[in-house]
Amino acid sequence: MKKFLLSSCLAGENVRYDGGNNKIENETFRGLIDQGLAVFVCPEVDAGLPAPRRPCEIKGEGGGKAVLEGRGEVYGDDGQKLTEPFVKGAHMTLQKALEHGCTAAMLKHRSPSCGSTLIYDGSFSGVKINGRGVTAELLAANGVKLFSEETLEDFLKYIEE
Ligand code: SF4
Repeated sequence: MKKFLLSSCLAGENVRYDGGNNKIENETFRGLIDQGLAVFVCPEVDAGLPAPRRPCEIKGEGGGKAVLEGRGEVYGDDGQKLTEPFVKGAHMTLQKALEHGCTAAMLKHRSPSCGSTLIYDGSFSGVKINGRGVTAELLAANGVKLFSEETLEDFLKYIEE
């Protein structure tokens, strides 16, 4: 079976902005982790941000793509610009995918790093828009197939093929 990238918070590590996690309890999925197929990544913590930390969102249109192209920025809810660690974390994650030959990634949905279909709009008011987080965008641009906990069944089919 193939190795895959896994958002550490979905593995159960307390790396979320609020110090918590979003552990996936599905037994089949946990079995893949036990077999050593998951390469844990947390782009934000890997880039040096603490856990817990301020919640962050991408401001402006274009999501992670705009950030990677220098047209968008990431801010904490305290107004601090954090674009640099987000871009750094994305490149560190891509490097891990290349090192381990990961062709797929199971990433936490709606995160400004890991979100693969929806992200928050930058207003810190809970409004979601179509778009990818910075890491998800860079991985997709390099041919990594993206899944989230919302598409777990599809992921299990893909990984077991
Ligand atoms: S969603 Fe991604 S960046 Fe956020 S805590 Fe989980 S692994 Fe880290």
